[in-house]
Amino acid sequence: MQGYSGIILSNDVAVDLGKGIMKKDNGESKEGKQARSINQQSRLGDAEFVANLSHELRTPLNAIVGFSQLLNQQLSHLPDQQESVQMIEQAGRHLWELIDQLIDLVKIEGGVSPIAMESIDVYQLLKDCIDLIAIVAKDKQIKVFFTPDSEPIYAKADRLRLRQVILNLLSNAVKYNVESGEVHVAASILEGNITISIVDSGIGIEKSLQDKVFQPFQRLGAQFSDIEGTGLGLSISKELIELMAGEIGFTSQEFEGSRFFIKLLPADNELRDKNKIQTIQTLTSFNAPLIKENLKLLYIEDNPTNIRFMRLLLEEFAELELITATTGKEGLAQAKKFHPDIILLDMRLPDMHGLEVLEKLAEDAAHSAKVYAVSADALPAQIELAMHAGIDGYFTKPIDINRLQKLLVA
Ligand code: ADP
Repeated sequence: MQGYSGIILSNDVAVDLGKGIMKKDNGESKEGKQARSINQQSRLGDAEFVANLSHELRTPLNAIVGFSQLLNQQLSHLPDQQESVQMIEQAGRHLWELIDQLIDLVKIEGGVSPIAMESIDVYQLLKDCIDLIAIVAKDKQIKVFFTPDSEPIYAKADRLRLRQVILNLLSNAVKYNVESGEVHVAASILEGNITISIVDSGIGIEKSLQDKVFQPFQRLGAQFSDIEGTGLGLSISKELIELMAGEIGFTSQEFEGSRFFIKLLPADNELRDKNKIQTIQTLTSFNAPLIKENLKLLYIEDNPTNIRFMRLLLEEFAELELITATTGKEGLAQAKKFHPDIILLDMRLPDMHGLEVLEKLAEDAAHSAKVYAVSADALPAQIELAMHAGIDGYFTKPIDINRLQKLLVA
């Protein structure tokens, strides 16, 4: 998407991602002093600061993406206006991805997001990732080839993070491929080293640009095409693989294709045994509620813009009664009074945390509602905490309205 890849952070945060976490500005400008002062306090290495930064950036985006999605649905009879709104939504989504990736990079560089090494069944993980990318590949008529060996390979890595890197490489292999192209995925173990390779028959990377591939915000000309991206995925991938004591690299020939590879250490036996009893928890999965007639939905949220958004969004469900509450206490009272079927719960309420509301709801014997978090707190650890506390599902803001609507008509 042209025109967006130049967005970095404001001087309030002054992150120089090319050289490390903090910008050491030697000038005497106000911004420089501000950057140094932040550097001294090392706030970007502080988990709470990063969580707040993520939350604050996502909150206004929720309104931008949310309302433009709604308007898009309502403006089908006015194609010009609809196109403008679609551009707002597209820009909002780009910003959303950029914020997500930037926060991720800041977290990794600041050591806020520790790596949890475990034993990973490489073939299984590759298979899961290929399944996820299959729809996009099919749209471009790209064939993905993968033939795992019968003997499994176990690598020592952080499951979620390795998955993220493989998805990034697969997504690039499809994005920068040609119509009806091919992607070949393979994994092997040789002399104690595991190598995963993803080979594509795509546009390749010009020789003179190859040393920039892992640098943040470098899109190597893709910013002038309609291929969406932020130029951050590979720099994040490199950081992550190196944290796992691995290596990532590539070879490429312009107009012929590229081969990206990851080298990882094999898992030791102890980790391997642990892996057998571990089940993969999908944090974003939802146990969709059974919808009955005269559905009652309680939305506990203090932000009036979000309430307005939800009201407009749910207007199409004539049989649905929306009840709102702006504090945890009021929410609990409404839940007792109306016995809602679904509760959408903001996690940062003025009087208590969403998880406290959840705990108190569980104390009420008459409570049988499905409770879904709707929150700008989007860090995996925050989502995991809520899932462990027994939440039925987690919507991160900006809310994907299609997902929410699907939940109500399931
Ligand atoms: P982006 O969000 O732009 O895809 P990445 O960090 O994943 O960011 O990749 C950086 C750049 O490297 C891309 O913009 C693209 O120019 C180039 N690139 C990455 N993977 C490939 C590939 N498989 N084939 C050709 N070019 C690629």
